[in-house]
Formats: sequence, structure tokens, C-alpha cells
Amino acid sequence: MSYDPNNVFARILRGEIPNNTVYEDDHVLAFHDISPARPVHVLVIPKGPYKSLTEMAQHGKDEEIAALFRAIEKVATLTRVRDSGYRVITNIGEDGGQEVPHLHFHVLGGGPVGPMLK
Ligand code: ADP
Repeated sequence: MSYDPNNVFARILRGEIPNNTVYEDDHVLAFHDISPARPVHVLVIPKGPYKSLTEMAQHGKDEEIAALFRAIEKVATLTRVRDSGYRVITNIGEDGGQEVPHLHFHVLGGGPVGPMLK
């Protein structure tokens, strides 16, 4: 299945849906999850049209991939969870429980996240 340009994160990137931005650069947007599972729950997404990690690993530019990795660490610093620790998750496809078909990394923290999310 190809990338769906009307998924909710594509609409956020186009400014059609508001978001609570934590960090932004040329390649990445990070914003608070609308339904936080932990005190800190930020989503870090590439601006490019990648459905999941699989597509970005195959088709992304090295510059975009590096920016995404660095943005995750910046978000941890900005949300003050870097030193206490945090969890990073990306769900991929049906078995991975991915609901929004635009690659996103969940950054979770602000207290022990426990052994499992759900
Ligand atoms: P799951 O919901 O099972 O974690 P995903 O990994 O696809 O599946 O995560 C989608 C995430 O996007 C959810 O945590 C959800 O709360 C969040 N979300 C959905 N719509 C918005 C929105 N408009 N703004 C911010 N976060 C959103």
C-alpha cells in the first residue's frame, strides 16, 4: 500500500490540524501526543512521506534519518527526561499495532514506564 497523504500526521505537517509542537527543524516535527500514555508522551515524525520505519530505511536520505535520530534526543532534553530515562517506541504495520500510517517514534517518560505499555 502506498503512502496515504490524508493521514492525520500528513495533515498536521500541512498545517490543516493543530499540534502542540515541542521541536521542529527542516526534516522533523515533534509534538505532544493528543492522548498521552505517560506524563511525557511526544511523537517525533519525519517530514518526508514515509509510512513506517521500513519505508524510511529503504527510501530516506541519510540526512533525514540522522535528523530524526538526533531529534529524539533533543526532545528528551527539552522535556527533561533525558537524565532520568525514557522509552522510545515505533509501531510498524498491522502486527506492530500501528494506527497512523506515517512513521512516528513515541518518546515516553516522566516516571517509570513499566515493563509494557499496554
Ligand atoms: P497506537 O495508537 O496503537 O499507539 P500508533 O503507534 O499509530 O498506534 O500511534 C498513534 C498515536 O497518535 C497515538 O498515541 C495517538 O494518541 C496519537 N494521535 C492521533 N491523532 C493525534 C493528533 N491529532 N495529535 C497528536 N497525537 C495524535
